[in-house]
Amino acid sequence: MTGGNLPKPWLALALAVLLAAPAWGANSSTSAPADPVDGDADYLAAAASFANGHYGIAIGKLADVLKRYPRHARVQMLLATACERTGQLAAARDLYVATLAGKPDARIEALANERIARLARRPVVRVTTAPSAPAAQAELTPEQVAAMSVIYPEATRKKTDHFDITTNNPVLADLLAQSAEAALERVRRTVLGDALFPHRVELTVYANQAAFRKAQATADWAGGGFLYAPQSDGSVRRVVMLYQVDEENRFRTSLLARELPHELAHVALKEFFGQAACPLWLEEGLATAAEFDGGRSTSDRMAELLSRQAATPLAEMIDQANGEVDRPAAFYIQAASWTRFLRANLSDGQMKRFLAQLKEGQKPSVALGRSLVLDDRPGWLGSIEDRWHKWAAEKP
Ligand SMILES: [Zn+2]
Repeated sequence: MTGGNLPKPWLALALAVLLAAPAWGANSSTSAPADPVDGDADYLAAAASFANGHYGIAIGKLADVLKRYPRHARVQMLLATACERTGQLAAARDLYVATLAGKPDARIEALANERIARLARRPVVRVTTAPSAPAAQAELTPEQVAAMSVIYPEATRKKTDHFDITTNNPVLADLLAQSAEAALERVRRTVLGDALFPHRVELTVYANQAAFRKAQATADWAGGGFLYAPQSDGSVRRVVMLYQVDEENRFRTSLLARELPHELAHVALKEFFGQAACPLWLEEGLATAAEFDGGRSTSDRMAELLSRQAATPLAEMIDQANGEVDRPAAFYIQAASWTRFLRANLSDGQMKRFLAQLKEGQKPSVALGRSLVLDDRPGWLGSIEDRWHKWAAEKP
């Protein structure tokens, strides 16, 4: 396909989509062999900007060029490289994957594969647990809480079937040894559809937030984080990072009920999606669903957002690219609510089809429409949004 007569969807899909989850289907084609892109003024200007290290300018121009030459392998590769050099690694990876999906020539194929492998070797460090009030932890006695509030100078290490636990409190180490496997069970059921998780996870509990942040350079609201780091020998380091006491030096009871299953869910999702992009709302929504209260903690706040008419339209949220979130607190609430709604209303088969399509790189809205067999009915997304909002207003 060449020239200016693009099919309508392409006009609607702007840069955001080009840089987000690949929207290209399995039957995408490569560009024409006689290559008019080489005479394209924007392409030449973009290449010059790129050569001079002006990657931001190159990205803007290349996105325009891609609208005229959709799925053009060389344009995608240059755009991906510019993204990579500006630290937009997820967008870069998606573009390399999309390039491969277009069946490029052998040289570009080899280069794209090499780049994807290179990106995979960069550790993914993410801080993801939203700020939250401590969950009620009825099983813990005040004596246990007091005992686990003490920070000992020496580390205690414990091993369980799946975890290597490190913490500076032996009582907490014992409790984690019991509850980490239970948290993994919950993650397997809520996130992995009962799939096995034959991997080891380092579970490191820092003394306090200052120590956690010093080790991980994280946002000051973060309650936990995870690391999924492929190693050069082909193995993967999986780490869940938490911290023991709050600003008042009291043991954080939410650590067991919320942050542990939440961060573990992120590690498991990384396993499931591999190189494919998981939409951020789904990732955070599923991680929140894995918490022991199943994300119900967010339902009051979702109802409140709706009563203020402050919810982001679903059509905007569902295909939102990672890294585009400008209201994180509201985003977490909506992601958790929407994901819970889907889980409550989709059959297992529909959910499986939805996840499988996402894994193939399908756009979330398209994947959802297809898994519900609704995508040819106009307005289906709007009616699902109405149903979701009615459901959420009742604080389920
Ligand atoms: Zn998270």
